[in-house]
Amino acid sequence: MAVIGWIGLGNMGGPMTANLVKAGHEVRGFDLSSTALEAAAAAGVTVATSIADAVAGADVVFTMLPKGEHARAVYLGDEGILASVAVGTLLIDSSTIDIESAQALHTAAATAGFRFVDAPVSGGMTGAQAGTLTFMIGGEAGAVADASVFIGPMSANIIPTGGATTGQAAKICNNLMLFINLAGVSEGAVLADRLGLDKQVFWNIASVSSGDSWALRTWYPIPGVVPTSAANNDFAPTFTAELAKKDIGLAVSAAQATDTPLEIGEHVQQFFQRMVDAGQGGKDCSMIVELVDGTLEQ
Ligand code: NAD
Repeated sequence: MAVIGWIGLGNMGGPMTANLVKAGHEVRGFDLSSTALEAAAAAGVTVATSIADAVAGADVVFTMLPKGEHARAVYLGDEGILASVAVGTLLIDSSTIDIESAQALHTAAATAGFRFVDAPVSGGMTGAQAGTLTFMIGGEAGAVADASVFIGPMSANIIPTGGATTGQAAKICNNLMLFINLAGVSEGAVLADRLGLDKQVFWNIASVSSGDSWALRTWYPIPGVVPTSAANNDFAPTFTAELAKKDIGLAVSAAQATDTPLEIGEHVQQFFQRMVDAGQGGKDCSMIVELVDGTLEQ
């Protein structure tokens, strides 16, 4: 049994820590949200009162935070992880963040004498609940191997990506494809309805045809078709539009830095921008279907 410090107990961090508890580890979790802390406590996480409290005496510390700015604050702040954690603790950031922030964390951790890996995940809230996430891990090979031991109960696939920040690079490119797929699924679903197709019959066809995708199978944005869809629950968030906007923005920025044209990605970025502008950034990202069918407009 290991002692695991965990910062960020939201839609992903909550169920991920629950699986570590089930595997027999002691997890000490901290979040700014009392709702998140209460849910984590119900799953067997020991509630910490601060970052320092969560990481004291831990064998390993995970972070699962919204954006690069949050990860920088949590690691580099005056009362942050690097200022509080014991020598020898392995540090694992599973947030999806920009490559520059990830590099800053690698550099600061190394300067302070810690091993750090960037280990973002794919698989959504359902994968977090089932313990079947894919982890993509960038960093020094020994640290990646040691991180993989702790990651086991949360994941079905652990894939080393190479050196520092390569995990984030893989994640950014993966999510570019995910959100383009989601936009395509949303358009196909609305058009199928307007052509008079039964929603379930069309989904049954597409899911075994060339229109298939993870977005179609997991996030189909029409109520009553797939059980894991946020559409069944008035688009209560499993992955907020705000975070989807952030992720596709990371791809657009990386593309600009590498002179890569992302014509479709930039277009899909606008879907999430429009959702945020309409005051719906806290809803599930699959609610972009309402921009296609015209029920959501600013
Ligand atoms: P979320 O907003 O549900 O959870 C983030 C949590 O971090 C919140 O509970 C928030 O209160 C907490 N937090 C923020 N700043 C903090 C601080 N300074 N100290 C302590 N806690 C703090 O987000 P999420 O959906 O769990 O996503 C987390 C990360 O994982 C993001 O980078 C996201 O892009 C990525 N991700 C999300 C999904 C998904 O399907 N939701 C899938 C893969 C990856």
